[in-house]
Amino acid sequence: MGLLLPTLSWAQAIGGYAAGCQMNARALPASGPGFYVIRSTRERFYGQPPLIDYLQTLGQKTRQADLPPILVADIAKQRGGPFEYGHRSHQTGLDADIWLRPPPAQPSPRRLKNIKAVDMVDHRHYILNAHFRDPQRQLIALAAQDPRVSRIFVHPLIKNAMCKAYGDADWLGRLRPWFGHSSHFHVRLHCPKGDTLCEPQAQVPAGTGCGRELASWLNDKAGEITSGPRTPFRPTLPKQCVGWVR
Ligand SMILES: [Zn+2]
Repeated sequence: MGLLLPTLSWAQAIGGYAAGCQMNARALPASGPGFYVIRSTRERFYGQPPLIDYLQTLGQKTRQADLPPILVADIAKQRGGPFEYGHRSHQTGLDADIWLRPPPAQPSPRRLKNIKAVDMVDHRHYILNAHFRDPQRQLIALAAQDPRVSRIFVHPLIKNAMCKAYGDADWLGRLRPWFGHSSHFHVRLHCPKGDTLCEPQAQVPAGTGCGRELASWLNDKAGEITSGPRTPFRPTLPKQCVGWVR
């Protein structure tokens, strides 16, 4: 057997979250203790080993806490890179979307494929609706407590609810308000140790982020208005990714 190129021989995230790729990704199994992969026909269930481990561990933690199994949506494509449609990040195998709704009663593969998102926000009155309850709060708290997490994007109203429920918990700072995250939250891990080509994002600001910064988001209801169909995103990729991503 010939010698493998060093860059291809171990798992690694290359480039930035919104302009990168991944090598030797692992697939999250279709289901396991405390989790299900949804919409698996999109083949976006590949991630770097720390993220796959994070998701499996989160499934186990939710099970131990008597919470419903988590529904894992987009992670990344097998080689990473930009999606043909949908969000801009998820390119390096370090981002994952987790839905806030519980799974259907009998989560057959067909049901998990056709599952509908449940919005937790009453956008007309700009309040959380009755779908956002204690299990959702507990799930987000468990997700944010893992020190591998760089940030988790949640709707500003959800961040507000977490601030009210958890006061001054140090992990609250990892919850970043962002529009569009009202039926799922988006977990982003730090660059794994040793991935020298992985571009980290700036540290989240110190503190819980529950004060003035959140207030500015809550007042900016105009940001809620979504902007029509999104055009394909074609970032300039690091040279290691060119010709690698499909
Ligand atoms: Zn996402």
